[in-house]
Amino acid sequence: MLDFPTRQIRAIKNLLLKQQKEVEQNIEEIEKDDPAKDKVLAESSEPGTDSYIADIHTKSLVILDSLKRISLSIRSALLKIRKGTYGKCERCSKQIEALRLWAMPTARYCLSCSKIKEKLSN
Ligand SMILES: [Zn+2]
Repeated sequence: MLDFPTRQIRAIKNLLLKQQKEVEQNIEEIEKDDPAKDKVLAESSEPGTDSYIADIHTKSLVILDSLKRISLSIRSALLKIRKGTYGKCERCSKQIEALRLWAMPTARYCLSCSKIKEKLSN
């Protein structure tokens, strides 16, 4: 039985939509600023330039990877809101603590399950 209030779900949904917009804007900006996307720069024969570009490109990819992961978790939280299963722990099916959801709207597990998960992955 899920007892996360509808009014709070609506506020969380707005929060998630706002976060998703920000993350997508960040992804766009990083993709745009990636010097490896610019062929003229990438073909430059200036010494040291290539490794500099490769370095920035690698860093961009790492940031993009984590941003895309955040974007996916936001999308899956929004999907759960639509399905009416938002706030349900994916491990024990209990209600995730409201405070935890406010702190981390994309949380998939309740506090005790996330602790168990942490122990298992260590
Ligand atoms: Zn749980």
